[in-house]
Amino acid sequence: MEKNSPIAYISGIAAVTHVLCESKIAPDGKLPAGTNFAADYVSALHDTRTAVGDHKDSQILLPPISSDPQSIAHFAGFPEGKRFQRTLSHVADTIRFSRLCDGASPMERARLLSCSGAYSSAWLTTIPTDMRCRMPARHYRIAARVRLGLAPFDNQYKQCVCLSPNADPKIDIHHGFSCFRVRRTYVNKRHDNVKNLVHYWAKQVGCAAVKEPQNVAGSQERADNQIDDPDGRRYLCDVSIVQPACPTHVSKAQQRLGTAKFAAIEKHIQYDAMAFADGAEMWPLIAEVYGSLEDDFVAFIKRMAFFASDGINSQWSRAEALSQMIGSIAVAIQIGNVKVLDAVQHANRRAGFIRPKRNIHNDNVAANAAPLHASSSGSNAVDVDEVNDDDMSRLHQGSSRDRAQTRVIIPRSLMLQENSVADSDEEDDNDVGELLHVPANSAARDR
Ligand SMILES: [Zn+2]
Repeated sequence: MEKNSPIAYISGIAAVTHVLCESKIAPDGKLPAGTNFAADYVSALHDTRTAVGDHKDSQILLPPISSDPQSIAHFAGFPEGKRFQRTLSHVADTIRFSRLCDGASPMERARLLSCSGAYSSAWLTTIPTDMRCRMPARHYRIAARVRLGLAPFDNQYKQCVCLSPNADPKIDIHHGFSCFRVRRTYVNKRHDNVKNLVHYWAKQVGCAAVKEPQNVAGSQERADNQIDDPDGRRYLCDVSIVQPACPTHVSKAQQRLGTAKFAAIEKHIQYDAMAFADGAEMWPLIAEVYGSLEDDFVAFIKRMAFFASDGINSQWSRAEALSQMIGSIAVAIQIGNVKVLDAVQHANRRAGFIRPKRNIHNDNVAANAAPLHASSSGSNAVDVDEVNDDDMSRLHQGSSRDRAQTRVIIPRSLMLQENSVADSDEEDDNDVGELLHVPANSAARDR
């Protein structure tokens, strides 16, 4: 333990120091020299100092460097080690994160800062108690890749149908979020899903809510939601989801939530006069694509949760309402992200900007020219899961003519069955479709 988690080890020692000092183990506040116990303690203390550096909190909690390395008397001043481990771990995490940002490019730094914003990890810990908080496995995987700064798909385009130079993964690996090809479709859909959730939860906690109210104070502007709470206050809310790590916003995103705060200011400029004329408060509800919520969004959710109390305004307790609101909004953003990325990926595949991968499906088709396997479905198709290494060696020896012939005899029913495998990677599925020249009106293509 002292090797894997020295902070936890030292915190454990600190928590039981009074017991050790009262026993024969360390009656004089000093661990017995020459024992494994003392050696482990000294090693863990050294590793802990390395992890937490010279932060002022750690200097208070840890024994002075000049003290006897085997002395634990310093910990007697911290009864039961209260908040000891949490404080040291927080210091160590802060130092690690700072080092990570220091060595990162501006875009990576923008992503890292956004991923450490308020509630950015809520979708990872949300319990799927209802459909609003549930993420399909494939969406979860892609969202995790995005959070880690990886390309969303293995076989990503190098050039986009929008012809933006930023589509090069070396410039913006998550170009799909800012591709104008999907700006009026799936980007709007993601926005609308969050807008609808705000509307839904406002009503659930006992408020009256109207979507996109028209002619508010004679203005042609339409905020996303007009909400009246049980205390008589009126709110105008407008949702926006921004991408901090795109080339346009990356300079603002060198501060945590910098892009979101900028968007919030723009919303105030756009709606404040109308809200004032309507006797309402303007609340910009801004989130970043990596999941973090701007301060006003967090404050608004907490205010809505305030109205939830058992048997009065809603069926929810405040804690439940807060948890469900944050979880459902976090999941909606991530699912919306994946749909945006999927749409761009599909558009580029259709445009021929994605090079088909060489994969097992293609080679297995060639194998079917030789009688390696009898088809389980009575067709000439081969079950790809049954191909062994010997078969594969024969496959690679097959002529191009064999492959050309077998492309024709693969039945579409097998293609659709292949594509319908639960939890499959759509990218791979569609690559198969391209390799086998499936007709353009197939269901797999329409997905
Ligand atoms: Zn694009």
